[in-house]
Amino acid sequence: MADQRWDMLRCDSCGRASGGRSGQRSIACRHCGSASLTITQSFDNAGKMAQAVSSANLPPEIRKEVEDALSRRPELNPSNGSSIRPNPVRMIQSAAKDDGSIDIDLLVREAVKVGVDEDEVKRWIEMSEIEGALIREGPGEYRLL
Ligand SMILES: [Zn+2]
Repeated sequence: MADQRWDMLRCDSCGRASGGRSGQRSIACRHCGSASLTITQSFDNAGKMAQAVSSANLPPEIRKEVEDALSRRPELNPSNGSSIRPNPVRMIQSAAKDDGSIDIDLLVREAVKVGVDEDEVKRWIEMSEIEGALIREGPGEYRLL
């Protein structure tokens, strides 16, 4: 396994980045499903690959927009006197397991502790998915990109 390599691929039809194991045959674009992908970079470490894919899909200014949009909700506004201002992006990241999958139950439990209800958490997830920070892997299953 020492020679396992990981590729970052760019989709020829939507232009977004995906990642996969080198040599994997049936890889398709995570965003539009196209099978027409070009390898743009190769890594010896899955974590580095995931980071490259994530930053290719989510430039810092967009990440900031997501954070701003998510924290603009009035009930999360610090001027309302609440001492803790939840940071949705950070909370989602901290609910991610080592393999990048999100423990939604854990995220909801942590959010409820700081006064955020489950519907709000679902909106965070939805918005993060739209912005490309998360992908949906199945019913109730999400993974960080
Ligand atoms: Zn695509």
